[in-house]
This record gives sequence, C-alpha cells and structure tokens, in this order.
Amino acid sequence: MHRILLVEDEPNIARFVELELGHEGYEVVKAADGREGLRLAEEGSFDLVLLDIMLPGLNGLEVLRRLRRDSAVPVIMLTARDAVMDKVSGLDMGADDYITKPFSIEELLARIRSALRKQKRQEEQQLRFGPLVMDIPRHTVTVSGEGLELTGREFSLLQALMENEGIVLSRETLMDRVWGYDYVGETNLVDVYIRYLRAKIAERTDRRLIQTVRGVGYVLREEEAP
Ligand code: CA
Repeated sequence: MHRILLVEDEPNIARFVELELGHEGYEVVKAADGREGLRLAEEGSFDLVLLDIMLPGLNGLEVLRRLRRDSAVPVIMLTARDAVMDKVSGLDMGADDYITKPFSIEELLARIRSALRKQKRQEEQQLRFGPLVMDIPRHTVTVSGEGLELTGREFSLLQALMENEGIVLSRETLMDRVWGYDYVGETNLVDVYIRYLRAKIAERTDRRLIQTVRGVGYVLREEEAP
C-alpha cells in the first residue's frame, strides 16, 4: 500500500482528500502546518507528498526547499488558481507536479498515479547497497543521501561491484569491465582505484563496504562482525 503525506491546512479539503484517497487504497497521513509536514516528510516513510503552498508555520515552497536537501520523494504541489509564480517556483525547486485548486478527485488520482509510476521507473534504474545509491542514467552516487564525486573510472568500478553485490570479482574481470578488454597494463591499477573509491566512501560512512578477498579480488559486502 502506498503511503501519502497530505500537508494541507484547510480541514475540509484535507478530509475530502483523505477520504477519497482512502477509498482508492492509499494510506493517508495528514499535517495541518508546514513544520509538522516537513518533520513527517523527513522521516522518509512516504511514497508521495501532497503539499499545499499557503500554510501556517512554513509555507509549502519553504517546506519543499528544505525537504529537497536530502529527499527525492515525489511531491505534488497544491496551488491556487492564479498563482503562476508559485507553480514555476515549485517546479524549479524540485516539485514533480502541481495541481490547481479546486481540483477534481479524478485529476488528483491521475497525477498521483503518474508521479508514482515515474518514481518507480527511476528506482528501477538505481543500484542500492547499504547506504550507497547509484543512479545510472543520471550518473550520480549518494552515500546516506550525500553526493559522492567520482571520476568516470571510479564510477564504472563501483557500478561493476554494485551489479555483482556479494560476488567476488577478480582484478582481471574488473580490468575488463572498467578499462576494456584491449587494455594492456598492470592489474594493480584496479588496486589503486579501489583505494580511491574506499577513501571517498570513507568520507561519508564508517561502514567498510568494499572487501578484499586475498588472492582473488574484491567484493561489495558488509564486513562481517569480528
Ligand atoms: Ca492553505
């Protein structure tokens, strides 16, 4: 079941949306002001956020700006009919869509389904391991939500390891994957790049994720407890 956070201070709209989404099988949690909405959204257990703009506490645009520091949850803004600037600002700040009040429930449901589909497609193009998230089309890696700047080779090396989570890859396999079959050189280049990767990851997390298997190669797995 999808969980939706509804941040809306007008009780009639909030009740109506909660009821209708409930009928469609969504679980709805309500917040009536911006600060409460942000707090709940940051807990991260929602599949989608419906965010009104005119809110007490923090306005919706400010909630969105703060939320986007470390969350990619889909956000649909609820805007007043003529608030063109709000729509533009909201999309600029990373809202996925907006819907103009007053809206029909059919339109809202269609927007929700569309945003959830888009999110699912994006997630399918991601690799995840522990705190690592690699977005292949966007060529980005985050560790616990914080961006990691990798060179092209480092990225390819990490991708090979993430695609083979738990499987030990030899230096030769990694050479082939990252430098290509034609590369003639020392396989200790792999060791050098593994060191670079480990150092960068270590700046973001204490967890050791890339293990050395002596005489064999490298594997992405959590270090076993001593
Ligand atoms: Ca409002």
